[in-house]
Formats: sequence, C-alpha cells, structure tokens
Amino acid sequence: MAVNHAEFVVLGAGPGGYACAFRAADLGLNVTLVDPRADLGGVCLNEGCIPSKALLHAAEVIREARHVGDWGISFGEPKIDLNKLREKKNGIVKHLTDGLTGLAKRRKVNVVRGTASFTGPTGLEIDGAAWSFDQAVIAVGSSPVRLPGWPDDERIWDSGSALELRQVPKRLAIVGGGIIGLEMATIYAALGSNVTIIEFMEQIAPGADAEAVRILHDVLQQQGVIIHTGTKVVEVKATKAALGLSCEGVFDGEVKADAVIQAVGRSANGHLVNPQAAGVAIDARGIIAVDATCRTNVDNIFAIGDVTGNPMLAHRATHQGHVAAEVACGHAGALDTDFIPSVAYTSPELAWVGLIAATAKERGIPHKVSRFPWAASGRNLASGGGDGMTKLVYDPDTKRILGATIIGRNAGELLAELVLAMEMGATLEDIALTVHAHPTLSETIAFASERALGTLTDL
Ligand code: NAD
Repeated sequence: MAVNHAEFVVLGAGPGGYACAFRAADLGLNVTLVDPRADLGGVCLNEGCIPSKALLHAAEVIREARHVGDWGISFGEPKIDLNKLREKKNGIVKHLTDGLTGLAKRRKVNVVRGTASFTGPTGLEIDGAAWSFDQAVIAVGSSPVRLPGWPDDERIWDSGSALELRQVPKRLAIVGGGIIGLEMATIYAALGSNVTIIEFMEQIAPGADAEAVRILHDVLQQQGVIIHTGTKVVEVKATKAALGLSCEGVFDGEVKADAVIQAVGRSANGHLVNPQAAGVAIDARGIIAVDATCRTNVDNIFAIGDVTGNPMLAHRATHQGHVAAEVACGHAGALDTDFIPSVAYTSPELAWVGLIAATAKERGIPHKVSRFPWAASGRNLASGGGDGMTKLVYDPDTKRILGATIIGRNAGELLAELVLAMEMGATLEDIALTVHAHPTLSETIAFASERALGTLTDL
C-alpha cells in the first residue's frame, strides 16, 4: 500500500493546531494539518469562543438599551429575530474560518480532512490511509463532559448546541457555574429566558477571587438569574412538558426547565488518536503530559492545548503551538509561565491572572492586597458601568504583582496591562508612575497600585 509522508503533521486545527502548523510552515517545514471538520479553527472558532462572543455582544446591546432608560433614552422592548441573529453569528465564524483557509493556502500547508490515529512512533492512519511522519503534534483538544445517568433528550444541550441558538427556552437550567455556564446565563437571560444556575461548589466561577465573584453573583441575580451554589443535580426526569432536575444541597428541591445546558467542564480528547500505539503516555482522563517545550515522552511527538490538561484555554494552546513548532525546528523555546489570564465574558466581565489572595494565604506566600472600587471611577460611572473592582495581590517586600483580578466592563481587555506587568516583573511603582490617560478604566490599575503605595489622591 502506498504510504503518504508528512515531514511535520499536526493533528487538530484549533487555535493551538493551526497556530503550530502556520508557525512551522513559516519556519520552513513541510506541514500537514489534519482535522475532521470541514473548516479550520476547531471548537474555539466554530462552536466556542467566537460564536459565544458574538451572542454576548448581542446580549450586551440588549442590556445597554434597557439601562439607558435611566438616562432618559428608551428604545422599547427588543424584537429578536433569532434566525437573523444566528445568521450574523454564523457569518462572523465563516469570515474567520475562510480567512484561516486562505492563510493555510498561502503558507502551502497541506490541509487534510480526516480523522487521524497513531499506528506507531512514525506512523498514522488518516481515514484508513497509511501515513508516515517525521514529527507530529497532538492538538486534538477536549470535549464537554456529560454527566452520567441523564436521559437522552434533545432539550439537553452542551456548550456547542447551546450556541446553535435553536430557540430561547422560557425556563433554562444551567448545570455548572464555571466560565461556560456563566457566559450562557449572560446570553440567554438577555434574550429572555428565566435562567437558573446550579453549581456544585460554594461559589460560581470556583478558582476566581471570592470578592470579585460576589459582585458578579449579585449582578447576575439583578439580571434575574437564580443561582443555587453548593447544590448538585441527583436526577433528571424528562417528561413531554418539561425536564425536572432533582437537586440536593443548599437548595433541596426540583428545578423545572424547558432546556438544560450541561457546563460541567471539558475532558481531554487524547484517547481519540490512540497515542499508545506511538508509545505516548496518556492518563485515564485522556491527558497527555508534556514538558515546557511541549514534547511528550516520545521525542518526535509533541502535544499542545486542551489535550495537555488545564488550563484549557485557547490562548495557552496558541502559545504552546508556537513553542512546539519552534522546538521542532531546532530553536530554543518553552512555555514556562504561570501567568495565563482567564476571562469570563459575562456582563460585567471577570478577569484574573496569577495568584488570588485566598491561594496566596493557603500556600503561606507573603502578600498584601490593594483594591480600587469602580464606584470611584469617573469613566466607569460616566459610561453607565455598575459595580466593579480592580484588585491586586502583591509581594510586600519586592512590590511585584503576584496576581490581579478585575471585575467590570472590559475587564478582559484591561487585564492585559497586568499580565504584561507580571511578565516584565514590574513593581507597583512602575505601574503607579506610568501615566494612564484620564478618564479611562485603565486608571483603576494605577489607582490600585497607588493605593498600595499610599500615594492615591482619588479616594
Ligand atoms: P469549568 O471547569 O470552568 O466549570 C464547570 C463547573 O461545573 C465548575 O464550577 C464545577 O464546580 C461545576 N460542576 C461540575 N460538576 C457539577 C455537577 N455535577 N453539578 C453542578 N455543577 C458541577 O468548565 P466549563 O465552564 O464547562 O468550561 C470548560 C473549559 O472551557 C474550562 O477550562 C474553561 O476555562 C474553558 N472555557 C473558557 C472560556 C473563556 O476563556 N472565556 C469560555 C468557555 C470555556
């Protein structure tokens, strides 16, 4: 049987895989990029980050239009044409996937549509065809976790089906109050659903700063979202009329819903490519361990992105993709940072990086905290913003930033300054003495630094 050969093959064309393939091609390798999807971009572009951001934008417009009633401007109740909204979202995705196809072509990346599986340390099968390769990158991502014992019912959605925007259910239950659950709640509450979030842990967005999360929790409740924390779903019953979720914990009782979104995390897809055949170690959860250069235990095989475990974030995958491509080409490269930002694109946004105060305390790391409340930010108030906070965790001796959390409008954009500050080892003085334009939300970062230094005049 004829064997196809790939000098450098990347399995999976998500934000990790395509970035890796493109970087490797730019460095002169002959690259093959394999994915079963018709379009490049993986989950993130096709049914995750980008479509959700399009719908979150629509949700924000609806909310803004409601809020300006207080400013003496009214538009009336929004009329939502679901088909048009879906088309708009799909159009944005198509524009970007077409763009990727063009970028792949210009780089002469050989895109193969198919499902790949290892047959040995230098062998693959792609839809039944035999391939050999010199170096490979596993970038096959993750899939939504499905809770066991739930009925098979088309009213039970995962994050992908929720973004298809099939309908706006009157009553929507969301199981899991992590980033996906919160973003879905933000979208569907604005579109008109009565949303209930059921979260197993004591707080929504577990892992984020509790004080900031409290602000988000309160705002979501003001938006009409019911939140049951410390509660688990023990049984789901489907009848024609509704789905009934029996809950136990802080909330004991039944939640009735017309649709349910399961958003209880994602699991790595490592087993899909049979890595054991190549000698690549994989754990029971489908996670493939890598070193800082993204190399697996097998020298010529790398892994990047969600398949390498947490944090399962697109921007981490992209950086790993670049590292793997560079290392494969003999360059020095590593992803050895803990400063990977997390953003929940809720309304308001919640963004954080590095240590939160609770973790610093738990680990006995000397730290201090400085906050700037957005009630004192002229720009926030003048642009209709509500509660918010910029919170810094810093080393009391070196005055370097150990972690930062921002809750408020555009928190995700604002956080970048603090990620850079941490990467560069900037001190509170460096930030405080940097002239921030007035009036901006970015000033809250300088103000929080000044507050820590005792030089703040704005509070
Ligand atoms: P997650 O791990 O962030 O949250 C899942 C939540 O479900 C947790 O709070 C968990 O305590 C809860 N949970 C688990 N089992 C439960 C149960 N039986 N009943 C009730 N609650 C339960 O996962 P996610 O929100 O599904 O997101 C998946 C991944 O995708 C994450 O790694 C996330 O970071 C990533 N993601 C990121 C973004 C973004 O960066 N904006 C957006 C979407 C997804």
